Amino acid sequence: ELDVAERTARFLGSKIEPLAIHAVDGVSLSIGRGEVLGLVGESGCGKSTLGRMVAGLTTPSEGHIRFRDADVASLTGAAAREAALKIQMVFQDPMSSLNPRLRVDEIVGEAPRVHGIVPRKETAAYVDDILSRCGLDPSVRRRYPHQFSGGQRARIGIARALAVKPDFIVCDESVAALDVSIQAQVLNLFMRLREELNLTYLFISHDLGVVEHISDRIAVMYLGRLVELGTAEDLMARPNHPYTQALVAEIPTFETKKKQYSAIKGEIPSPMNPPPGCHFHPRCPHAHPRCKAERPTLREVAPGRFSACHLNDEGAASTAA
Ligand code: SF4
Ligand code: MG
Repeated sequence: ELDVAERTARFLGSKIEPLAIHAVDGVSLSIGRGEVLGLVGESGCGKSTLGRMVAGLTTPSEGHIRFRDADVASLTGAAAREAALKIQMVFQDPMSSLNPRLRVDEIVGEAPRVHGIVPRKETAAYVDDILSRCGLDPSVRRRYPHQFSGGQRARIGIARALAVKPDFIVCDESVAALDVSIQAQVLNLFMRLREELNLTYLFISHDLGVVEHISDRIAVMYLGRLVELGTAEDLMARPNHPYTQALVAEIPTFETKKKQYSAIKGEIPSPMNPPPGCHFHPRCPHAHPRCKAERPTLREVAPGRFSACHLNDEGAASTAA
């Protein structure tokens, strides 16, 4: 069986300290240091679960998450605390993830103080510096979350994650609640911070149009399985898997924002009771009898490009619509 995490680690070459994931129905991938891996799929496809596992908030029932060559679940004591700080999560809805009773300086300053990342008397200056990095005027430090706009709250959520000096950030729908123009500003902030701080991101979104802008590579999930993985540019230009082809064709424009993925026929089936064989077969325009009976495995169809579709075996891989 192909070890996709191993192969992608090799594909990433000189980049060190990859994060490797083997979890969720055979999902296997690795993320290189300084890389942005976009993870895209419809709601219920398992991408948030995967993100929570990477961030240590959910333990995988099978498989494992390796960070710097250590199985995260097996770490104890100081090593476990270190890993928990080094991998941070920026959540979907800043309003519900920010404690409304805490001021901004408490929200951002609490974890670094508790974990001894900065001496207590330097915390205020430290918080001001992080707020500035995140595009917030330090004078807002005494305010409460409800006194900010959605975009500013997103920045506070990012500042809180950065305050413990992480190497790796899981962003789960971090810009989904924002207006398009604000989304672009926050995505630019993510990209700038990555440059300045040499961060690695797992960037999760239902919106391929968002993921495309920030990712080096893109992973596409469908009903708990990884169906395609490749460099962002190549995957967008030449989607291999029929599901990815549909997503690429359906990137919402500003006007059609509300009806994402409407051209993919049929409803997304229940993740609890997925169709047999290829999970995508009830909705796939290329489905054939084998697709209902046999699960396609993720195969390397070009260097660094993986796809799980029987059409690749049969030498009849379709090209982008
Ligand atoms: Fe479509 Fe069959 Fe490929 Fe699944 S395996 S994506 S049903 S052609
Ligand atoms: Mg989700």
